[in-house]
Amino acid sequence: PVSIVWLRRDLRLHDQAALYHGLKSGHPVIPLFIFDRLILDPLEDRSDRRVAFIYKQIVYLREQLAQMGVPMLVRYGRPVDVWKQLLEEYPVAQVFTNHDYEIYAKERDIIIRNLLHDRGIGFHTSKDQAIFDREEVLTGNKTPYTVFTPYSRRWHQQLNDFSLKSYPTGKYVANFCKAAPLPLPTLQEMGFEPVNESFPRPAVDEALLKAYQKMRDYPARTGTSELGIHLRFGTISIRELARQARETSHTFLNELCWRDFYFQVLHHFPHVERHSFRREYDNIPWRNNEEEFERWCTGQTGYPLVDAGMRQLNATGWMHNRVRMITASFLCKHLLIDWRWGEAYFARKLRDYDLSANNGGWQWAAGSGTDAAPYFRVFNPTLQAQKFDPKGEYIRKWIPEFNSLSYPAPMVDHAFARQRAIDTYRRGLKP
Ligand code: FAD
Repeated sequence: PVSIVWLRRDLRLHDQAALYHGLKSGHPVIPLFIFDRLILDPLEDRSDRRVAFIYKQIVYLREQLAQMGVPMLVRYGRPVDVWKQLLEEYPVAQVFTNHDYEIYAKERDIIIRNLLHDRGIGFHTSKDQAIFDREEVLTGNKTPYTVFTPYSRRWHQQLNDFSLKSYPTGKYVANFCKAAPLPLPTLQEMGFEPVNESFPRPAVDEALLKAYQKMRDYPARTGTSELGIHLRFGTISIRELARQARETSHTFLNELCWRDFYFQVLHHFPHVERHSFRREYDNIPWRNNEEEFERWCTGQTGYPLVDAGMRQLNATGWMHNRVRMITASFLCKHLLIDWRWGEAYFARKLRDYDLSANNGGWQWAAGSGTDAAPYFRVFNPTLQAQKFDPKGEYIRKWIPEFNSLSYPAPMVDHAFARQRAIDTYRRGLKP
């Protein structure tokens, strides 16, 4: 009999909870990755960067395992079909995997758990992608926190050496199954094109962490880690990163706390996936003008910082956090377009896309979320540009035609849009 370790958002071999437990299970371990048709087939972009990133990482892991004489199972299909097939091919004793918090993933895991249980096979899941799990940071009354500041106070109090301890998988490599390599489906077989982009191995730069607090708000600088995609797919260990942050940057550590915070918001308040966290915000009469939405998407609003951000996103799949806040606020408040439109656009484009953090960021911008600023506070994109891109370096980088006649005039006057937003919100929120 063998143990299968099913990798999903934890694509690494070191400090990996499920792999550690699998290797200690007493049966030889075969790692598995499923390219899930239910996720991949609906993707419009056949050169999706995230698919390319995952693929590259699977190739890398497969090579690392092959060097130890260990095969890796890689399949393309619906998870339930793949599992049925695997159960015919392998004498599976136990299955190990890490918790996943998204709604689709939770439903998928229930189906697989039941399938395995019917055959007397254990399905063990562990905490791996979060530092504290959904039920681990609760108020004195055992209820979830709905505001970040008290949550973070508790989170930092609870953080200790034990919560950041590594899972030393390296000690147990002898417990992997030894056999010849297994086939790997190609990207083309799954209907995707290779992407001409290099994805450097994740590295945490100590100098960056030390300067993080001072530099992180300036989009023209390399002031943030850009580790989002690695955290999303677990190519870096959150515990290792947090240990380093604990030594060097409280501000950075606090960003990892935001990440846990939004995981638990999505878990405890799953309605946020489709609705405002504060229900009354579902009544705002959005204008939802499609032509204006298109100008926002393509970076043609005439507000340079907004446009630079959207063009950075379209060109690279990444946008600086400060600019995410400004572009999102502009869509919701200046254009009065439903935050869910913007959320869906970011979901398609961001290489570090994560349902919980993206949803949290958008609901924050719309004012409908957990830590919402009062709705009458409306970012002024021009002042924001003066403050955070004082020399206009970021703007000129992404808008080469800036200062020329071909760059559009602002599509809406700021003072007018601000008042319209306040009036519209007030009307929608009237009891
Ligand atoms: P760094 O500043 O280096 O931070 C390190 C890590 O901390 C990030 O990679 C991320 O995992 C975590 N983190 C930082 N800020 C936040 C935050 N506010 N909430 C949750 N986690 C955070 N983050 C995503 O990971 N995925 C998203 O889809 C996403 N969508 C967003 C949408 C909007 C409208 C807004 C305002 C923010 C969004 N964020 C999202 C949060 C934040 O902008 C990104 O995490 C950050 O810009 C990623 O760049 P980085 O890796 O250089 O971050």
